[in-house]
Amino acid sequence: MRFETIAIHAGQRPDPAFGAISPPIYQTSTFVFEGVGKTRGYDYSRTANPTRKILEDTIARLEGGKAGFAFATGMAAEATVMHLLKAGDHVISGDDVYGGTFRLFQNVMRDFGVEFTFLRLDDRRKVEEAVRPNTRMLWLETPSNPLLNIVDLEMVADVARKHKLLTVIDNTFATPYFLRPVEFGIDLVVHSTTKYLNGHCDVVGGAVVTTTDELSQRVQFLLNAMGTCASPFDCWLVLRGIETLPIRMKQHEQNATAVARYLAGHPRIKKVFYPGLESHPGHAIARKQMKGFGGIVSFEAGGGLEEANSFLSKLKLFSLAESLGGASSLAEHAATMSHASMPREFKEKTGITDGLIRLSVGLENVDDLIEDLDQALTSM
Ligand SMILES: *Cc1c(COP(=O)(O)O)cnc(C)c1O
Repeated sequence: MRFETIAIHAGQRPDPAFGAISPPIYQTSTFVFEGVGKTRGYDYSRTANPTRKILEDTIARLEGGKAGFAFATGMAAEATVMHLLKAGDHVISGDDVYGGTFRLFQNVMRDFGVEFTFLRLDDRRKVEEAVRPNTRMLWLETPSNPLLNIVDLEMVADVARKHKLLTVIDNTFATPYFLRPVEFGIDLVVHSTTKYLNGHCDVVGGAVVTTTDELSQRVQFLLNAMGTCASPFDCWLVLRGIETLPIRMKQHEQNATAVARYLAGHPRIKKVFYPGLESHPGHAIARKQMKGFGGIVSFEAGGGLEEANSFLSKLKLFSLAESLGGASSLAEHAATMSHASMPREFKEKTGITDGLIRLSVGLENVDDLIEDLDQALTSM
């Protein structure tokens, strides 16, 4: 089956009990045993749930991995993956990861004795130099949040193989429609399904896709032991969203490309970050490893917080909100919103300036979106 077909037909569908075309929401905590030690495959919904299982199988198939696991949020998925480590282990992480990821690493995992090096993963030598005897994991985002930096997955996977590191990619921005990290040798894929996979801004959720039986068993063990799993209803919503993932992503990208080109040609705009632009430093690698460039565009209009605020307050169609990946277009001020938990000096070093605005380009008519940006830029 091809991607679009998997998105609709993966998992056990139609429902084997009554033929429902929409997967039933198994809203139950527990399952009746047929006898001591004898179940029909399920015993308790924290451990496993049939609705969740359909979502997990679907995401695993879309990513081309071994198994999938659905979590309450993207952060629950990430926290669970971090528990593959133990005190004394060292992690190399991209420096421009999602603000909540940075906070989990810096302000939670560090207290448990896990060490971190944050690094721009754009140079093989730099990455290899950061490897220590206790380095266990390499964590990355590509395109990254909010700067849309591109990491060369072949390079990273090669370094990881050489030094026996577990590679984890947060594939929330690209989605498997545009990027399938497993094909490059990445070990674990994590998602905030809150974003594009669900796609309608009406659920928070997360996912992990594994590539070996050993990792699958360990992630399933941790999910059950930590209780970080997703609810059946949330799984059902994400499943419904995934059915239209391919056509949504195509349109997000088409709209984002038009918005990026418009912004790049506007005299007020200092810098546009979109991997689909030929001027983007990661464009060639993105073209090589991705099927498309996604729906997020960031830019600097020149000036700082005040100018950014003025621009954002003038927008009519783009809503000022965190999150991304929904049908409705959103704009946000990364430094004070999605990346508020990153210390100021770190933001400056990374390039998350006070003038940086991130757009989640939605599925509205792109001419309306550009008109909205245009009037806000003119009147700011
Ligand atoms: C939103 C987001 C997360 C966190 O996911 P939640 O569902 O909000 O917990 C992680 N990574 C990226 C890239 C995100 O955009």
